[in-house]
Amino acid sequence: MTIIDGKLLAQEIKHEIATKVASFIDEGKSAPHLAVVIAGDDGASLTYVESIKKNTKEVGFLCSAYQFPASISERELLEAIDFINHDDEIDGCIVQLPLPKHIDKQKVVQKIYPKKDVDCFHTENIGKLVLGEDGFLPATPNAVMELLKRYEIETTGKNCVVVGRSNIVGKPLALLLVQNTPHADATVTICHSKTKNMKEVCAQADILLVAIGKPEFITAEYVKKDAVVIDVGIHRIEDKNSEKGYRICGDVKFSEVSKKCRAITPVPGGVGSVTMACLLKNTLKAYQQKL
Ligand code: NAP
Repeated sequence: MTIIDGKLLAQEIKHEIATKVASFIDEGKSAPHLAVVIAGDDGASLTYVESIKKNTKEVGFLCSAYQFPASISERELLEAIDFINHDDEIDGCIVQLPLPKHIDKQKVVQKIYPKKDVDCFHTENIGKLVLGEDGFLPATPNAVMELLKRYEIETTGKNCVVVGRSNIVGKPLALLLVQNTPHADATVTICHSKTKNMKEVCAQADILLVAIGKPEFITAEYVKKDAVVIDVGIHRIEDKNSEKGYRICGDVKFSEVSKKCRAITPVPGGVGSVTMACLLKNTLKAYQQKL
């Protein structure tokens, strides 16, 4: 049984990016520049922004965080996005979610210029994804595809079951798997909360990809022997036996599923580690498209 090492893969991808950035700088060009917009003081968002700052620095990018109080109006936030859109020195822009309740998330996300939308939330970029056109790829689904590709896990003609149909993970992941391209070409089924006989459907999967948002929901009975299991979920759950009083787990019950499958992503250290590297890849792409 193989434990798919997302941390190692993330290092590989970041090394590739850093090498390219170094060569651009040697040629006298400026560094790629990512803007991160955050409104309010949501703890998880602030931690994520710190992680973006650290990772951008590691690969030689510039990063500007635009931090606003939760009281910022929707109009002011849209103006801030407009400012970033028109700043030629900024290549990519992401808006950290969730936004304060009085702000329409869709309005803000759709305001970002598609060519700077490195999170791939804009409808134009989602449209390109559906049509299989060259564009940004959403970071978490693309992280899954990178893991499958770099671990040489065959997807062509394989029966892939995606559990979850969110707009940021499940749906785009299913779209990537079904593309008519090498390292895709899978036969894809999507499960959600209204799916009947989900255990039986999942147990047919050669590759089971889980983004359900429920800690350790997928047990061994959902998994075919020797299947590949990709766990996108991330949770912090109470654990009285741990010094910290909690532990991090995924949507899959690793202790039992890992005994039955051929390969599995751990949590932490799996998909999540590669997601950041894929965001950096998109930012580099936005930068290169401008050169
Ligand atoms: P989400 O928006 O809550 O979507 C969850 C999906 O799972 C929904 O489509 C829902 O179905 C389905 N679902 C919920 N309960 C179900 C059940 N009992 N049976 C079948 N389907 C069920 O979650 P998300 O944003 O996609 O995130 C999923 C997980 O991935 C979370 O743990 C999140 O923290 C994690 N995540 C990780 C990364 C990363 O970089 N590793 C990035 C993003 C998210 P309905 O549509 O019918 O409600």
